[in-house]
Amino acid sequence: MLPAKGYAAHDAHSPLVSFSFARRVPGPRDVQIEILYSGICHSDLHQARNDWHNSLYPMVPGHEIVGRVTAIGAQATKFKVGDFAGVGCMIDSCRTCPSCADGLEQYCENGATLTYNARLRNSDELAFGGYSDLIVVDEHFAVKISPALDLKAAAPLLCAGITTWSPLRHWQVGKGQKVGVIGLGGLGHMGIKFAKAFGARVVMVTTSPEKAADAVRFGADEVLLSTDKAQMKKHAGSFHFLLDTIPNGHDLNPYAALLRRDGTLVLVGALTELTPPLVGGRLIGGRKSIAGSAIGGIAETQEMLDFCAAHGIAADVEMIDIQQVNAAYERLLKNDVKYRFVIDMASLENAA
Ligand code: NAP
Ligand code: ZN
Ligand code: ZN
Repeated sequence: MLPAKGYAAHDAHSPLVSFSFARRVPGPRDVQIEILYSGICHSDLHQARNDWHNSLYPMVPGHEIVGRVTAIGAQATKFKVGDFAGVGCMIDSCRTCPSCADGLEQYCENGATLTYNARLRNSDELAFGGYSDLIVVDEHFAVKISPALDLKAAAPLLCAGITTWSPLRHWQVGKGQKVGVIGLGGLGHMGIKFAKAFGARVVMVTTSPEKAADAVRFGADEVLLSTDKAQMKKHAGSFHFLLDTIPNGHDLNPYAALLRRDGTLVLVGALTELTPPLVGGRLIGGRKSIAGSAIGGIAETQEMLDFCAAHGIAADVEMIDIQQVNAAYERLLKNDVKYRFVIDMASLENAA
């Protein structure tokens, strides 16, 4: 085994603390990665605090991982030592079901293995995530990171990037469409950048008027304050597509009212119950759809990363040391992030 160091949550109520554990020695198809940067997703906070009632402890969160390949297995061919590589939300899947065959491993019908808060496939061992100094994964679940990308700003692409890219692509968002991105956080700011790059007219739908200038800088053509009833009425019935990144259960009715005929709202944020109930007439009048989407497959993650390298797209990040992770979680809860925290893993060396 390889000795590894990271930060872990030991229960839902205590801060993350320094943690020593072990990683497997690379198998024939594995790649070993020295982690340089690890983004902080709101899902890390949800899981560290057991918001989804499925948390396994000790938990080393982190699924926006960028690093350098330091070793490869004898039959691994995708990387060479020294390459930059990324790992997102998954580290394994069954590889044989129809979803896996379609390159949509996140919808693996036998259950994709998540990067943390999961057990390794066919094992009782816990999977530990990116708030650590190294990771060993099957090369299929590692993606190539172009040296043209700023590595720090590329880390959030592994979750915030692909989670917004995948639905925008699947629903073919582009020219001639009015698209709203709801919630200007980690996911939301990437959603604006991609929707703009695909040629849509982009509206930032936010509860935070002070974020308007940033939204415009990321590519929004307009900013709609969702707490302002008059503004919401003005935009009623006008959106082809809405990407909803709000992290918790919320009222969908005012957002459904924004959709035009045949419009679709895609949920990516709220995994829990949505209340109050959605009024059926909101969808029936106008043949509207509410849908959901989870991260993206490995092939489309690579496609997204290559697009970002070619078009100079990356996240806007605030760098922190690992010792600041608990303070960063508190700021995330207060919507105080511009617009993704990324941990410089070199700071682990100073950890107790
Ligand atoms: P984040 O950085 O905290 O951003 C969320 C934004 O939502 C906030 O900045 C805020 O934007 C808005 N918001 C927060 N609370 C709100 C409320 N009560 N009502 C209305 N708007 C609110 O979070 P994130 O990392 O982007 O993640 C967003 C959600 O997506 C999380 O629940 C996460 O677990 C989930 N997620 C899902 C997937 C997937 O595969 N589907 C992948 C990654 C993350 P404004 O200030 O602009 O209103
Ligand atoms: Zn995430
Ligand atoms: Zn499968």
